[in-house]
Amino acid sequence: MTNITRARKSNLAAGSTWSANGGAVETGDLRDAGSLPFGSNVFSPAVQKERLSGDTFARLTKTLDAGEPLDASLADEVAEAMKEWALEHGATHYTHVFQPLTGLTAEKHDSFFEPGGNSDAIAGFSGKELIQGEPDASSFPTGGIRATFEARGYTAWDPTSPAFLLENPNGTLLCIPTAFASWTGEALDAKIPLLRSMDALSISAVKALKLLGDEETVRVFTTVGPEQEYFLVDEQYYYERPDLVTTGRTLFGAQPPKGHELDDHYFGSIPERVLACMMDTERELVKLGVPVKTRHNEVAPGQYEIAPIYENSNVGSDHQQLTMQIMQNIARNYGLICLLHEKPFAGVNGSGKHNNWSMGTDGGHNLMDPGDTPAENASFLFFCTAVIQAVNKHQGLLRASVANIGQDHRLGANEAPPAIISIFLGAELDKAFESILSGEGDGKTEEAVLGLGTPVLPPLPLDGGDRNRTSPFAFTGNKFEFRALGSSMSLAFPNTVLNTIVAEAIDELADKLKAELDSGKDIGEAVGEVVKESYGANRQIIFGGDGYSEEWHAEAESRGLKNLRTTPDALPEVISDSTVAAFENYNVLSRRELEARFEVWVEQYTVLANIEAETAKSIAKTMILPAALRYAGVIDDSDIDGIDGELKALVIDLVAKLGELEEANKYPDGVEGLELAEYARDNQLAKMSEVREVADQLEGIVADDLWPLPKYSEMLFIR
Ligand code: ADP
Ligand code: MG
Repeated sequence: MTNITRARKSNLAAGSTWSANGGAVETGDLRDAGSLPFGSNVFSPAVQKERLSGDTFARLTKTLDAGEPLDASLADEVAEAMKEWALEHGATHYTHVFQPLTGLTAEKHDSFFEPGGNSDAIAGFSGKELIQGEPDASSFPTGGIRATFEARGYTAWDPTSPAFLLENPNGTLLCIPTAFASWTGEALDAKIPLLRSMDALSISAVKALKLLGDEETVRVFTTVGPEQEYFLVDEQYYYERPDLVTTGRTLFGAQPPKGHELDDHYFGSIPERVLACMMDTERELVKLGVPVKTRHNEVAPGQYEIAPIYENSNVGSDHQQLTMQIMQNIARNYGLICLLHEKPFAGVNGSGKHNNWSMGTDGGHNLMDPGDTPAENASFLFFCTAVIQAVNKHQGLLRASVANIGQDHRLGANEAPPAIISIFLGAELDKAFESILSGEGDGKTEEAVLGLGTPVLPPLPLDGGDRNRTSPFAFTGNKFEFRALGSSMSLAFPNTVLNTIVAEAIDELADKLKAELDSGKDIGEAVGEVVKESYGANRQIIFGGDGYSEEWHAEAESRGLKNLRTTPDALPEVISDSTVAAFENYNVLSRRELEARFEVWVEQYTVLANIEAETAKSIAKTMILPAALRYAGVIDDSDIDGIDGELKALVIDLVAKLGELEEANKYPDGVEGLELAEYARDNQLAKMSEVREVADQLEGIVADDLWPLPKYSEMLFIR
């Protein structure tokens, strides 16, 4: 192997790492549900029923079903049962898992073992320990809510998201989903506002349903089904790239001769090593009760997707965090690294996360399902209109809810979906709304829709063939798909926003509906009036064309829609007047809690931009420049005149651009907060791209065996 160059060595290893580990992952027999491990590591309702007294189980179930506050007196019995179950499964430690404002998952492990001299002092775990933890939380970001010296944070058990066991080759851990608050009661995490927003929406929706003639529904749940995109690369390449290790994306790398022009990857057959990894991941997730359902290749080479069946927003959001964690863990067992960054490779499709969202009643009715009775149609149109109104009013906030530094390479950069928020309804639904607005039906369908109260209504628009992949917010048959989320993101905040703004719109429309009903109209007519007025006022947000096109950018501007291209542009929406009003009105987040998030997210952006800029500087200076100089030596040694011009010019350019980047990396005095984030964007990130441009040209001429970084053509295609 001594003659094999740097690149060839890793390629050879990368290409030959995988060997079938046949039978390592048992599949079970799909015909026999009992043989499947679904939820085997979850303290599920079935396990609870088996292990709790009838009374405790009934009271706990009521809490879960109706979203009622937890009765603390249940805690001791539940804790005891949970502990016994966990110990039987080999658990040694427990942890309260929560989601601090970093957006990541945090855990602090406590042993079940209580050394006390007494031989049966093992396994202390009381109701108090179940319900509440008190991590020394001084290092979590709080956006000024809690000074470090008052470092107490509280974690509180969330019984609505089931506890589970996380297996590690060296022991098992009981994980208890929890909320995290400051000692003054302010939410320091992503779960508390999500739960509050679910409550708010439920109250509004139940009230509206009553007006619409539904007397039965007690609770409405919001649901989420995320489609997660990700890349898998061989771990060799990953560890050879300081940019991937430090920032999650490649800061350098020329375009490969072959990209995804051939469209040969999308839905293509999955390479065996990748498939094995996926199956293993899915099996682990299934044990944890995550209902994984689909897998396929995505558009870019090396890119894939995994999607579960939808669940209520809280559990779905917790499960999504778990999914990202398990995907990354399991990939390691296959010599792969799972990249969740929104844009690991420039010029290659980035990764998003489609957030399928709907509302369902406790009776199992999906409010976004057009249904096939007149009453269901009217209800559907009412709630659908509420979503349109909410999205139009809070378009800036929705954009902000999906802002992070990685997203700035996707949204607004001519890639799925644009930074301009708009709604795609599909031709049929468009027609229905337009005819309600104009009061004129042209042909059967529209008249029937107009009539709303008439006994025979055609089934309202379903999924249809037309799917607009460029729309950031699309109606897809019986749910809305918010497509602008980034692949690394938690679902919690975008769904908190959706729930809150839709709750607000439902209430606004319900007030009007009530007035129409009070004036003597029947439900069909009254809903017709409400829909007509709201749709007319919010119709600017509806767009069915190509969201990537330049024309759309121009048209959106003339419509007055917001186009917040970067994270620093978008984040102020988190503390705008309309956001604060809605969030305070529905007790989801106070102004102070919103300001805290704004501060933390702005700082996160600035810090990450700085890390990228420093990493880029270091790679350019200590890896790329030396490689170019070595190659210059080779050219000199060749004694052939006239072949060094291009190289020399690029090296001189590189050194100059590098100097400018180093200059940009020095923060100006007295600049902070949002202004510093803008500085980082306009100076550090801008200079970085200039350095990259030259470096990528060098990659095209420096001898391959001297080039210090694995190339796109290797990372994306060898596995
Ligand atoms: P596509 O790729 O065509 O958008 P998929 O079948 O891959 O569709 O994903 C659809 C996602 O939408 C799944 O996660 C599914 O569970 C979810 N979904 C379906 N119905 C609902 C609903 N009522 N609420 C939330 N999510 C839903
Ligand atoms: Mg989708």
